[in-house]
Amino acid sequence: MSRLIASLSLDLDNQWAYLRAAGRDHWETSDSYFPQVIPRIVQTLQELNLPLTTFLVGRDLVHPDRCESISQLTELSEWEFANHSFNHEPWLHTLAESEIAAEIDETSEAIKQNWGTAPVGFRGPGFSCPPAVLGILAERGFRYDASVFPTSMAPVARAYYMMKTGLRGADRDRASQLYGGWKAMRQPNRPFQRTINATNLWEIPVTVMPGSRTPIHFSYLTYLASFSKLAAKQYFRTTLRLCQMSGTSPSLLLHPPDFMGAEDAGEMSFFPAMKMRRESKLGILRWALGKLANQFDVRTLRSQVDSLDGGHKE
Ligand SMILES: [Zn+2]
Repeated sequence: MSRLIASLSLDLDNQWAYLRAAGRDHWETSDSYFPQVIPRIVQTLQELNLPLTTFLVGRDLVHPDRCESISQLTELSEWEFANHSFNHEPWLHTLAESEIAAEIDETSEAIKQNWGTAPVGFRGPGFSCPPAVLGILAERGFRYDASVFPTSMAPVARAYYMMKTGLRGADRDRASQLYGGWKAMRQPNRPFQRTINATNLWEIPVTVMPGSRTPIHFSYLTYLASFSKLAAKQYFRTTLRLCQMSGTSPSLLLHPPDFMGAEDAGEMSFFPAMKMRRESKLGILRWALGKLANQFDVRTLRSQVDSLDGGHKE
């Protein structure tokens, strides 16, 4: 019997993106943690022979040394580079259409220049996917968007984010749409197709727990593990079992801080689970990724879309 398909992606947000979202003034001159974190990501995934779709932020691609770090991801057995906007504006939904087009086009161009192929997938920063974005993706021939995060916890996540970052005034108002707002929960928890101006565009949501719709991405798992490893493991086991039972292909999401521990925290200490020792956190991550690799046919998002287009039979 063939195994259910899953997909694995990484949002390669650099430290500046977190500091900027947190309202820190000096975000622009922040160091890059790519040289420390990317080799750990490559090593962890290689050990498990896992593929990866990496969503890249254009602003980092103007630095040759950061591109060099990113190129290490091409050593994985299967890899894909996709588009995560240029400036990682959490407020993408407030920009004019021409500004949104520039956010997408400049990053696609940088990916093409560096690695030879234009991306076919997009994920909006802050999980927002307004119609203007989807229209541009369809027009540009993108095959999928992966910005939907259909969680019941969006309001909680947003409240936590605001509390930790201390956003005020206009930023606070604009943040009300972060994580897709209240309506995110009513979005499907499995891939679906949109037709925009006679063009088909797949949506690959970031999978949440079938039923309860609580998050299952790895930052949430390590956050749980920072209270109880046992509970975190039980939660992840349940998630995978519910995905199997409901025929839901899990599309799981990694972030660079998942590969960082207390030793690396520095200015990232406000991020959840940053008090855990690095090896302890990586241990949980390896365990969870190993379970995923054992139980599912894990692919890049692009390869998942290929199988959806091919009308594969399970
Ligand atoms: Zn991001």
